[in-house]
Amino acid sequence: MKMGGWDLHIHTTFCDGDSTPEEMVQAAMERGLEGIGFSGHAPMPFDAPWAMTQAGAAEYWREVSRLKEKYRGRIKILLGVEQDYWCGRPEAGLYDYVIGSVHLVKKGEAFLPVDDSPEILRQGVDGLYGGDWYALAEDYFTLTGQVVEATGADVIGHFDLLTKFHEADPHLDLSHPRYTAAWREAADKLLETGKPFEINTGAISRGWRSAPYPHGDIIRYLQARGGRLILNSDSHSAGTVAFQFDQWRPLLERAEAQDTEQKEIL
Ligand SMILES: [Zn+2]
Ligand SMILES: [Zn+2]
Repeated sequence: MKMGGWDLHIHTTFCDGDSTPEEMVQAAMERGLEGIGFSGHAPMPFDAPWAMTQAGAAEYWREVSRLKEKYRGRIKILLGVEQDYWCGRPEAGLYDYVIGSVHLVKKGEAFLPVDDSPEILRQGVDGLYGGDWYALAEDYFTLTGQVVEATGADVIGHFDLLTKFHEADPHLDLSHPRYTAAWREAADKLLETGKPFEINTGAISRGWRSAPYPHGDIIRYLQARGGRLILNSDSHSAGTVAFQFDQWRPLLERAEAQDTEQKEIL
């Protein structure tokens, strides 16, 4: 079936993915995508096995540039990057686009990844926040509200990543006033930037969630305020490029406008 559209959140063997960029391009062509955008994890300011090294990022840049030429006329390819809050902005002009994401909060001198494992997150909240999950959420969304400014993002990555393990290991009441106040403040700041928020199916394909990021309440809040949304897979292997896009596309109220908007941001 011809599906059209783009998938702009793609990882490869250059960071923590299982497939090469060329395997991802071929998967995108098989699924009938109009274009694919690569978003390798930018090098982090500290040791992070899931991110590219500086040397790896240079190789990644050369390889995706080579594929752009090789596949010209068959599928459109964009060379992007996923910039974590803690890496700042990439060199100007280096990439076609930037996804800005918060993967870690900082408490004192300690960095706590919110998406590594339920155990690491639980131990981190117990040890660093005295078990106060709402304090974690407040710190997480304070950073998230600044992610466009910090990273120069064109796309806002997985807005509520801190709920990755919520179905398996729930600690937050997602309708708690402290939780909703935290995300609404971040959403309001980001809505002012006009940048699109991802509907991200990555945690579904990895078996952690039954619905994409962000939570339906957040999607409705964004849509009611004119927020732009785009569908991304955050795929780490060729089998999950454009994962469940057909199923979740109706979430985008203005589904028809989506492809046009994706071209506009680029
Ligand atoms: Zn991410
Ligand atoms: Zn990602």
